[in-house]
Amino acid sequence: MENLELRCQKSPCPRCGTALDGIIAIDPVTRGPRPGDATICVYCACWAVFDKDLALQPAPADLVQFLENEPQYQQIKEDVLEHIAIRTAQRYRPRTLDGN
Ligand SMILES: [Zn+2]
Repeated sequence: MENLELRCQKSPCPRCGTALDGIIAIDPVTRGPRPGDATICVYCACWAVFDKDLALQPAPADLVQFLENEPQYQQIKEDVLEHIAIRTAQRYRPRTLDGN
């Protein structure tokens, strides 16, 4: 499945506070976010939802439970966690491992 990368209005993640301004649309792939759509933060892997002003709010517990039990969304979260792990490893890699 081809995912579409889109810019959206900047909104802080409700958990880590990182200003998020890009999304990858998953389902459907042809439009930007609308109120009530779910998303996941690529910095802390928390689920969030767009409110009526397209600002990010914490995802309600029942929505989180639904997302965490759907294989499609479990895979997305795993991909995000892997992305975070790679980024963290690169940031903290000791210089001695760079071949110096
Ligand atoms: Zn976050």
